[in-house]
Amino acid sequence: MLAGKRALVTGSTSGIGLAVARALAAAGAKVMLNGSRTAADAEPLRAALAAETGVDIGYTAANLALPAAARELVEATIAAFGGVDILVNNAGIQHVAAVDAFPDETWDQLLALNLSSVFHTTKAALPGMKERGWGRIVNIASAHGVIASPFKAPYTASKHAVVGFSKAVALEVAEQGITCNALCPGYVRTPLIEKQVADQARVHNMPEDRVIREVILAAQPTKQFVEADEVAAYALFLCSDAGRSVTGSAQLIDGGWTAR
Ligand code: NAD
Repeated sequence: MLAGKRALVTGSTSGIGLAVARALAAAGAKVMLNGSRTAADAEPLRAALAAETGVDIGYTAANLALPAAARELVEATIAAFGGVDILVNNAGIQHVAAVDAFPDETWDQLLALNLSSVFHTTKAALPGMKERGWGRIVNIASAHGVIASPFKAPYTASKHAVVGFSKAVALEVAEQGITCNALCPGYVRTPLIEKQVADQARVHNMPEDRVIREVILAAQPTKQFVEADEVAAYALFLCSDAGRSVTGSAQLIDGGWTAR
């Protein structure tokens, strides 16, 4: 389905990003992986994915909280594969705290990664997409891109902003064969969520299994985590030709959370 396409997936050494990278590679796209691990640390993962899918898989370490690193990641992908046809902005972090106790430097870090890196990679990837008249940008936002939770104000702000950014970019390039969408998952069991389960267990002084059902999944009507593979399947659809008319949207994959 994606043979000949070149994809960059940020934050793809674990969780949702890795699942998206695997789905795109399985569909035939060359994939540049990225994360904060060193190239040596990421090599077993890169080699395993290449062996599993039979396509070119690269890895570029980059701290995307730094604007220059975000631009250089796109440039490295263009140098390796000749272009970026599919850009999946997935790297993101969470920090749970009351606004009046939220560390200033964590706010800056979180916004730099969750929001500003999306701007810098998109800016760097768009000229090539425009030249070729084809492109897919998928921004992994969150259900927190459309609703809010207490103690997650910076994360909620960053994800609402990513949804707005996705819509504006979609409108700018709508006539040039390029789509841009936000995917908004509910709770997906990944290392990011494992950390939240541990944090919430401490805050609420509860065992982790109760925290999962009564705190984390309290608002998710299915009472089940979304699987990373489900998010990946949705991203793959958006990147396919069948997804060409879906643009400027925020797609909810949230077990019914935002239907309340
Ligand atoms: P994860 O912690 O499993 O993976 C995060 C990835 O980002 C890793 O590959 C990590 O190396 C990379 N990363 C972290 N800091 C980085 C940096 N400074 N520069 C480059 N890469 C960096 O996270 P996840 O749960 O798979 O989340 C991925 C995305 O999905 C995030 O944007 C998150 O906000 C969003 N999301 C997650 C959930 C969930 O329930 N897990 C729900 C909705 C949205």
